[in-house]
Amino acid sequence: MWFVGRCYKCGHPIAFRSGQKTVTCRRCFKRLSCKKIKILYKVETSMEASAVMRAMKLRKLP
Ligand SMILES: [Zn+2]
Repeated sequence: MWFVGRCYKCGHPIAFRSGQKTVTCRRCFKRLSCKKIKILYKVETSMEASAVMRAMKLRKLP
């Protein structure tokens, strides 16, 4: 399971796996605690997660 949310510092879309504790934002390089990230989407594969992030960047998804 993959979760997609936004960086709570800069708002950049971010994806992480279930069980992962931290993730580093690719835009601001802040190390984020996965617990603090509001999950917007849940998907099965990393490919789906990157498709969702791409759509978020293009503002096709909130
Ligand atoms: Zn960020």
